[in-house]
Amino acid sequence: GSTIGILGGGQLGRMIAAAAAQLGYRTHVLAPDRESVAAQTASSLTRADYHNRIVLADFAAQCDVVTYEFENIAAEPVEWLADHVPVHPSSASLRVAQDRAAEKSFVEKLGGRPARWAAVDNRAALETAIEEIGVPAILKTTRMGYDGKGQARIMDRADADAAWEAVGGPAVLEAFVPFTHEFSIILVRGHDGSMVSYPPAWNQHVDGILSRSTVPAPAEIAALWTEAAALTGRVADALGHVGVLTCEFFATPDGPVFNEMAPRVHNSGHWTIEGAETSQFENHVRAILGLPLGSVALTGREAVMQNLIGADVDCWADVLAEPGAHLHLYGKREVRPGRKMGHITRVARDLD
Ligand code: ATP
Ligand code: MG
Ligand code: MG
Repeated sequence: GSTIGILGGGQLGRMIAAAAAQLGYRTHVLAPDRESVAAQTASSLTRADYHNRIVLADFAAQCDVVTYEFENIAAEPVEWLADHVPVHPSSASLRVAQDRAAEKSFVEKLGGRPARWAAVDNRAALETAIEEIGVPAILKTTRMGYDGKGQARIMDRADADAAWEAVGGPAVLEAFVPFTHEFSIILVRGHDGSMVSYPPAWNQHVDGILSRSTVPAPAEIAALWTEAAALTGRVADALGHVGVLTCEFFATPDGPVFNEMAPRVHNSGHWTIEGAETSQFENHVRAILGLPLGSVALTGREAVMQNLIGADVDCWADVLAEPGAHLHLYGKREVRPGRKMGHITRVARDLD
C-alpha cells in the first residue's frame, strides 16, 4: 500500500511507475514539465516549483519513499525532501553523478580508470588542457549533458574556439578513447547493502545517442565484466547507494575505461523488461522499499533492445506484426529528431 514519489516525468519514470503498479504500489510523479509522460495527468508545475517548499511539502506528505529518474535535477530540493521522507538513492549519489569532474575523481579514488581528463573552467584553461591531454579529445559540459548534448570534439588545436563556443565552461576535456566496444554495468543495491548486477550490455551509439543494447555482450566485453562490475560495486558501497546504479565503460585491450555513471535506471537496461527474470525497474522499486532483490538471470539466450529515435517510430505498426518483438512507446506527442520515442526488445529463446 505504499506510495512511491518519482521526481521527473520522462519514460524512465513511466517505466518505474509501471513496475510499481505491478507490485501493487501507487506512484506520485513530480514533473515540472507539461510533456510529462510518467503521469498521464497534465501537470501545471514549472521548474521553479522544484524549489517551492509548499509544493515539496505536499509531495512529501503524499509519499512513503521518494526516488528520481533524472540526475540533472537540483540537489537542494532533494535534500529538503530527505528531511521529510526517505529518499533513495540519496543526494550523495546525485551530487557526484551530476558533475562529470566529481564522478571521475570519485571513481579514480576507488581504483577506476577514466580517460585522461582535465577540468576546464575558462578559455585559457582549455589551451592548457589541450596541451596536457593532447588531441583528439572531447570537451564535455560538467553538468546537464545527456544524449551527447553539450559535447564537442577537438580534432586539432584549431577546433578549440568552436568547441569553447559550443560547450563553454565549466567543462572537462577528456582524451578520445580508441575503444573496441562500449558497455554498461547495471547494479542494484538494497538497504542492507546486498547487491545484484545484470550481465553487461553491449551498447552501440549513433550520433552520441544510444541506439542498441545487446546481451550477452561479445567476448571483448565479457573479459572485462568482473573488473567493471567490481568497480561499480565499490562505487555503490562508497556512496551508500540504494536503488539502481549504472556505470558506462569503454572496452579497450588495456581493460575497462570508465566513461560516466547514472544514479538511476538506464536506457541500456530496457532489455531487462522482457529479457531478465526481474526488470531493472522492478529491482529499483524493490531496492528503495527494502524488499529482497530479484534474479537478474536472462529469460532467453539473447536480448536485443533497439531504440526508436525520432522518425524511427513510424515503424511501430510493423513491429506489432512481428512475433517475439516487444514494442514500447513512450506516449510523447511530438516527434523530434534525436528524441527517444520508444524501443523494441527482441528475446531469442533458443538457438534459432
Ligand atoms: P548519456 O545519454 O549516455 O548520458 P552523455 O551526453 O552523458 O550521454 P557520454 O556518455 O559522455 O554522453 O558520451 C556519449 C557518447 O560519445 C559515448 O557513449 C561514446 O560513444 C562517445 N564518447 C564519449 N566520450 C568519449 C571518449 N572519451 N572517447 C571516445 N568516445 C567517447
Ligand atoms: Mg550521461
Ligand atoms: Mg553516456
